[in-house]
Amino acid sequence: MKIILLGAPGRRKGTLAKKITADFGVPQISTGDLFRAIVKDSTPLAEKVKAIMESGGLVPDEVTVEIVKERIAKDDCKNGFILDGFPRTIAQAKELEKISQIDTVILVDVPNETIIERLSARRTCPNCGEIYSALDYKETTCKKCSATLIQRDDDKPETIKNRLEVYENNTAPLINFYGDMVFKVSSAGSPEETYRPVKTFLENLEVK
Ligand SMILES: [Zn+2]
Repeated sequence: MKIILLGAPGRRKGTLAKKITADFGVPQISTGDLFRAIVKDSTPLAEKVKAIMESGGLVPDEVTVEIVKERIAKDDCKNGFILDGFPRTIAQAKELEKISQIDTVILVDVPNETIIERLSARRTCPNCGEIYSALDYKETTCKKCSATLIQRDDDKPETIKNRLEVYENNTAPLINFYGDMVFKVSSAGSPEETYRPVKTFLENLEVK
């Protein structure tokens, strides 16, 4: 079962991926993790990526696809995988088609207002790093160390709006590209409520 997971920041994709992995035995592959891992490698591909990164360049699509290709050839992917963070563009999606046939695309969706509300309620302890949600934690100081909680710049509504816009511009066209393959699920409810329709859908999915 070969799955692509799509969804903007704050959609709780990680939680959903863990549940799919547990039930269907397919690993979650995040390109962020792949890049972090490859710089520790000494394969020809790793050397190539390191050279590009050290020169400050962007890793081209063909190279990213090569990294993904190596990863999905590994044993733990024999039953499939969940791609998270890839493809990001139509060009990457077209490259991916050359190396693998995807079964489905799961789009984790929730209204932007909900995301902004959720993320902008986040309060961080500058001392111990503990994270709170102002929606259910009404104190202004940390439970553990009593420091005054702050709102990080990343969690301010303006920044969140910008991040969402970047996402819409880059990734939303992929939803059109995959068309009928896209299964849309709302993550407005609890993680269990989000997962239930996905599980039913995957159990009935005909795998190529
Ligand atoms: Zn604290």
